[in-house]
Order: sequence, then structure tokens, then C-alpha cells
Amino acid sequence: MRDPTAFLREEYEDLVKNELDWKLKILQGPSTPWCIVDGKKVLMFCSNNYLGLSNHPKLKEAAIKAVQTHGAGSGSVRPIAGNMDIHIELEKRLAKFKHAEASLVYQTGFAANAGLISQLASKGDLIISDELNHGSIIDGVRLSHAERAVYKHSNVQDLQRVLEETEKHQPPYMRILIITDGVFSMDGDIAPLDEIAELGAENGAMVYVDDAHGEGVLGESGRGIVSHFKLGRDKVHVEMGTFSKAFGVVGGHISGSKDLVNFAYNKSRTWLLSGSHPPAVAAACIAAIDVLENEPQHVQRLWENTRYFKQAMKDLGFDIGNSQTPITPVIVGESGVAKKLSTRLFEEGVFALPIVYPMVARDKARIRTIMNAALTQEDLDFAIGTFEKIGKEMHII
Ligand SMILES: *Cc1c(COP(=O)(O)O)cnc(C)c1O
Repeated sequence: MRDPTAFLREEYEDLVKNELDWKLKILQGPSTPWCIVDGKKVLMFCSNNYLGLSNHPKLKEAAIKAVQTHGAGSGSVRPIAGNMDIHIELEKRLAKFKHAEASLVYQTGFAANAGLISQLASKGDLIISDELNHGSIIDGVRLSHAERAVYKHSNVQDLQRVLEETEKHQPPYMRILIITDGVFSMDGDIAPLDEIAELGAENGAMVYVDDAHGEGVLGESGRGIVSHFKLGRDKVHVEMGTFSKAFGVVGGHISGSKDLVNFAYNKSRTWLLSGSHPPAVAAACIAAIDVLENEPQHVQRLWENTRYFKQAMKDLGFDIGNSQTPITPVIVGESGVAKKLSTRLFEEGVFALPIVYPMVARDKARIRTIMNAALTQEDLDFAIGTFEKIGKEMHII
């Protein structure tokens, strides 16, 4: 008899042979500018902890205090017995921060997209998605029974073409949902959400933006892409985000109308059937909002650091693509070159991972750097000097 689990090893070995397996690095201690990875002291250049909040004293204090007042776990899913005052407080604080009528917190951003998108459109409806949208959006779309259409990346003309074709469909679609990432994580470009929202309004479509990489980065005090473009909630109906990136903790969320939130929590299976956040998580997220509201220096530093690093890398002759955000790709072409560059950077004390095919086109392999507000001028000069040294050694510049 054939071993029914033989495929597990075969497929894994196949990934290893093709160098497509994830080689996990171990972070020993907090995610700080200088940190210990695989036993080596390195400069962190690839975390999503844009503002350094994951190790901020106010967040840590709030988490510890919540353990003392509320315990280590919530004891249940929210619709049964796991809906704590602290969860409600977080949602109120988030809605206020986002200038929205209401907000809802999910366990993760992935759970928000998978649980909500699948409910917003169904049989007889259409979901229109940017071709480079995040995997959690793709899974949310796959879980719905709606028809799907994809438009070329951030291409408003192509979105218009899809919408025009949609008009001819018989019987007419009942609902149309347009979904885009706010900031695209591979290239750091910003979606033309103002134009997308306009097209949505003209065509009676609902607009959904996933702002995982825009929060804490764009808009007034890091409020995100809707604030960045000063858009009304009558045109962007679902603003989705996560506490796992710039907010420095974990948890997904949506903001919009009360109707949206009432619908979302009653319909999302990921929300209904999965345990709620431990109190420490909710408390740390509230503290993160506090910090964003009261300490504007973090977002300012993030942008100062971003401008300084991008200019220096450009001056050195690196190809840093067309990023408009603190995500700066260093594009080198061949995947082997990107991997070698990452290894050499790590040996010299800079931790930045390669991104290669199939995540990006075969000839666009890169190191993806993500800027951090907690890095000092000295840290940045060290990173730039290291890129220069190895870039020359490898004949990239
Ligand atoms: C990280 C990310 C998510 C998932 O968020 P989590 O809270 O980490 O599950 C969703 N969408 C985008 C665009 C992301 O970058």
C-alpha cells in the first residue's frame, strides 16, 4: 500500500529543490532597530513595525495591566461570552480615530478579508479586484459566490473598461464591489483611490480598500489612505486595516457606517466562530491609537528617514522602483542576485529579505526594505554604507 502521506515530503522536497521553501529566521527578543536574528546582532530593515510601536513602553504597560485586570484570555468567541468591555472600547477608539461612524475588530486582517468579502457579494453579484491585491483578498473573493473580474494594476482606464462591460451583463448584476489594496506591499505604490472611488460612485458600486500598509504611514497622524485623499465615506464604504503592521500588535479591523458594522459582525464566520483577542492585545491596540493621536513625531520620523534613505540609495545608483511610501524595493533583476545580496547584507549586519518570482516578475527580483521611525541617522548611514559596499562588490552599482 502506498503511504497516503507520501506527498507531504515529496512536495516539500520539491520546494526545497527549487529554492521556493521559506527559510525561517529566528528573532530572539523584541523587534527593535538593532535586534538579534539567528544569534547575530543586525539592523532590522524588513519588519512591518513602521513606527517601532511593537516595543513602545505605553503599549507594553497597557498589555501588562490588562492581563492583571482581565486575565490572559477572553474565554470565548465574542457572540457568546468573550465580548469584553475592552474590545468595545477599542472599537469606539478606532472609529473616533478613523472619523467613521463605527469600527469592528477581527482577530486578524486575514480574518477580516476572508470573513467579510465573502459575505458582501454573492450569486448574481460581481467583485472587481486589482490584479495585485493581497492573498487574503483573493481568498475572500474565492469564498464568495459572486462572479469575479480583475483589472490591470492600479489602471483606472482598465477598471472603467470592466465597468462598461459590466453594464451589458444580462441579467444586470445586483451588487458590484470594487476592491483594492491601499498601498501595494511589493512596490510601495499607492492605489489611485480617489479615481477608483469616483468611478465606483458613477457606477453605483461599493468600494472596499485594504489599507494594511497605509495606516500609521499615510494621512493625518497616520489615519491612512482615506484621510490621505480626504475621501468621504459615501464613496469609500469599507476601510479595512490591521493592527499587525504600523500599530505594532495584531488584529484586523474595518471602519465605515453603522450599517456596515452591524452587517459584518452578524455575517462574518471568521468573526462569529473564532475566539476573541486576549485582553492584552485589545489594550495594546488602544495604547497604539493613543500614541498615534498624541505623539506625531513617529510618523514624521518615518517620512524623514524614508526620504533620506531613498535619496541616498538613488544617488548611489540603485534601482529603487517607483515607491511612494516607506517600502523601498532595491531591484536587482535575477533571483540569484537578490538572494546573494540579502545573504551578504545579513553577514554585514543588515537584515532585509529577498523577494523573488513568483511573488514578483522573474526579472524584477529585489530586496524589499521597509523603513522604521525608530532608526537613527547613524543606523541609516550604516545601512546605506553596507548597501554601497556590497553593491560595488557584487557589481550591482
Ligand atoms: C498584512 C496584510 C494583511 C493581513 O493582515 P494580518 O492582520 O496580518 O492578518 C491583509 N492585507 C494586506 C494588504 C496586508 O499587507
